[in-house]
Amino acid sequence: MKSFPSSKIRNVALVGHGGAGKTTLTEALLFCSGAITRQGRVEDGNTTTDFDPEEVKRRLSLSVALTPVEHKGHKINVLDCPGYADFISEVEAALRVADLAVFVVSAVEGVEVQTEAAWKIAASLGLPRMVFVNKLDRERASFDRTLEQLQDTFGAGIAPLELPIGEEDAFRGVADLLTDTAITYDTGGKATVGEIPDEMEAREHEVHDNLVEGIVVGDDDLMERYLEGDVPTPKELEDTLAKGVFAGQVFPVICGSASKVVAIDRLADFICEIGPSPLDRPPVVVEAGDSVTEISCDAAGPPLAYVWKTMADPYVGKVSLFKVLSGTIKPDTVLTNPRTHGDERLHTLFTLRGKDQEQVTDVPAGDIAAVAKLGDTTTGDTLAPKGTPVRVPPAPAPEPVLSIAIRPRSKGDEDKLMTALHKLQDEDRALQIRRDDETHQTLLSGMGETHLAIVTERLHRKFGVDVETEEVQVPYRETITRAADAEGKYKKQTGGHGQFGVAFIKVEPLDRGAGFEFVDQIVGGAIPRQFIPAVEKGVAETMARGGVFGYPVVDVKVTVYDGKYHAVDSSEMSFKMAGSVGFNEAMAKAAPVLLEPVSLLEVSVPAAYQGDVMGDLNARRGRVQGTDVGNDGEQVIVATVPTSEVQRYAIDLRSLTGGRGRFTLSHDHYDLLPQHLCDKVARKAE
Ligand code: GDP
Repeated sequence: MKSFPSSKIRNVALVGHGGAGKTTLTEALLFCSGAITRQGRVEDGNTTTDFDPEEVKRRLSLSVALTPVEHKGHKINVLDCPGYADFISEVEAALRVADLAVFVVSAVEGVEVQTEAAWKIAASLGLPRMVFVNKLDRERASFDRTLEQLQDTFGAGIAPLELPIGEEDAFRGVADLLTDTAITYDTGGKATVGEIPDEMEAREHEVHDNLVEGIVVGDDDLMERYLEGDVPTPKELEDTLAKGVFAGQVFPVICGSASKVVAIDRLADFICEIGPSPLDRPPVVVEAGDSVTEISCDAAGPPLAYVWKTMADPYVGKVSLFKVLSGTIKPDTVLTNPRTHGDERLHTLFTLRGKDQEQVTDVPAGDIAAVAKLGDTTTGDTLAPKGTPVRVPPAPAPEPVLSIAIRPRSKGDEDKLMTALHKLQDEDRALQIRRDDETHQTLLSGMGETHLAIVTERLHRKFGVDVETEEVQVPYRETITRAADAEGKYKKQTGGHGQFGVAFIKVEPLDRGAGFEFVDQIVGGAIPRQFIPAVEKGVAETMARGGVFGYPVVDVKVTVYDGKYHAVDSSEMSFKMAGSVGFNEAMAKAAPVLLEPVSLLEVSVPAAYQGDVMGDLNARRGRVQGTDVGNDGEQVIVATVPTSEVQRYAIDLRSLTGGRGRFTLSHDHYDLLPQHLCDKVARKAE
C-alpha cells in the first residue's frame, strides 16, 4: 500500500453497543472505496474485520480489527471495535490511538449501555466524537427518537447535520442541513443530488436554523455577522464546526444504512473533510526520565512509536500494531524499548486489512501499521530512538472481575497449558493467570463469562489444549475458640534403633489476623535444645496442611511446655512428629471453628439501582459500610461481603443493572463462618 502524508491520515474508531452495525459499516466503507466488490455479511461470517473463528461463531467482534480505507486521497485507518462489555479494554486501547470516535447507534435500539460506556472513555481522553445513526431502513427505526435520546444522554453538543429522507422501507437518502440539498441513493448505492422534498421543508428549516446557531457560537466573528443578518457560507460553517469537533465540544450526527450502503460515502467524506488528522490533535505527553515532555506529530521529527495492540498470528507469530507518534518509520529501523532497554529491529512493515497483510514502506507520524516478531515488546510499550528513552505513560491494565479455575483434560498437559496461556496473555491484557498454591488451582481472571469462555476455546483451537473448568475454591481457614492441651507422643520400634519423642502442647486462641505464635517453655532439658525447632516445624507444617476440617489453621498460639526424650532413639524426625501429633490432639479439644474470607466490595451504579443492589447485598450476607455520591451522579456503595457469596458477582451485577454497574473487590479479613454453613464447607474438604 502506498504511503499517505500525515495530513491525509484519519484514525477512526467505530465504537458502540454490540449489534449497532460497526462491522457492517466497516464493510460498507470498504465497498464504497472499491477495496471490495461484494459486501460481506456478519450473518455469513465473511466480513473483513470479523475473521476470527470465535467471532464468526458468535457473530460478535471480540477484538479491535484494523482496516485501511482509501477515500478521495485520504487513508482512513478504520478500527472496528467490539461492542460487548467483556471487551471494553480493547475499545479503550483503540480510543487511545484514534483521532476520532464514530459512535454507531442503531435507529431501532437507540443509545445502549456500551454506547455510554465507550462515550465515557472517549470523553476522559478528550477525543473528538461524532455519531452515525444506523439501520434507518429497519422496521421501527426512528431518527427523531434516537436524536432525542442522544441529546438527553450526551447533552447540547449533539448537532444533527442530516435528516433522513423516508424511514424504514422508504428510507432512501438524507437531507444535508449545511448545503440544503437532498442526496438520494439507488439500490446499487449510487447517489443523486437534488432538492429537499416539499414535505420535509418545514422540519428541515427548523433543524437547519438550530444547527447554524449551534455552530456560530463557536466563533465570535461569525456569531456577530450572523446576528447582523449575514448568512455564513457552508465552508465557513464547516470550518467552525471542525474546530468544535477538534475541541471535543460539538458532536455531529449523521445517518444512513450500513447494510443498504445509504449515505456511507457521506460518512467517509465527513471523516476526511471535517474529521481531525493526527496533525490537528494535541501533542502527546511522554515521560523522559523524571520529567515529562510533549511530542508533536511531525513526520520529519525523531522516530517514536507506541505499541497499542499485540496479536498472535498463526503463521507470522507475534504481530505488534503501533502508531507512529513522530518521525517516519521505514523497514529495518532499529529503535529501543525504554522499558526493557533492548533494541528492536522493525523489519518488515505492513498494514492489516482484517486478517490480510499488505506491505508498506514509509509509515509517517500519525499513521498506524504493524510489525512482526518484535523480541520483548508488548502492548503499551514505546519504541524510541537510541539514547532518547522517552516513554508514553502506560495505560493501567484492566481490572479483572471474574475468575474461573481450569485444569488440563489430559494429565501431563500442565506445562503445555501454561505456555499456551502466556501466549494468549501476550495479546490480551485483560487476562490474568495465577496459580493458587493453597488450593492448587490454576485461576484465569478476566472481564466476564464470554471473555473467559473464549480463552478456553482458543486454548483448544490454537494450542490443542483441552481444559475442564471447575469451581474456584474459597480459601477457608480454621481456628480454635478455647485453650486446650495434649501430650504429643511419637514412638516407633522397628528392629534396631527406633524413634521416640514426646511434646506437651498447649493451644490458645489469638486475635483475628494474628497468625501463628510459637512459645518455647521447656525448662530443665525435658526436650533437648536442638530438637525444639523440630517441634515448631512439626506444628507449623500440620497447621498449614489443615486442621479438623481440612483447611489451614490460623490465629493460634502454640506452647510447648514439657516433653520426654530418649538418648538413642530421639531425633529431629521424632520431635517433628511429636509436635504434629500434640497439635492435632490439642486442636481437636479446643472447639475448632471455620473462618471464611470476607471481601471489601465497592459498587458504583446509577442512583436508580441503589435499592436493588443493597437488597441483593443483604441476601448475600453483606454489610453495607457506607454510601457516597460518585461521578456523574452515580451512587457508590461500600460493603463487606463473604467472598464465597461474590464469586460470580460480575455476572449478577450485570443482570441486576443492565450492565450499568461497576465494582471492585479486594480481600479484607477473615470472619467466623456461620454454624449452619459449616457442614457444607467442611464436607468439601474431606
Ligand atoms: P456490530 O456488532 O456493531 O459490529 O454490528 P454488526 O455489523 O455485526 O451488525 C449486527 C446486525 O445488524 C447484523 O445482522 C447486520 O446485518 C445488521 N445490520 C447492520 N447494519 C444494518 C443496517 O444498516 N440495516 C439493517 N437492516 N441491518 C443492519
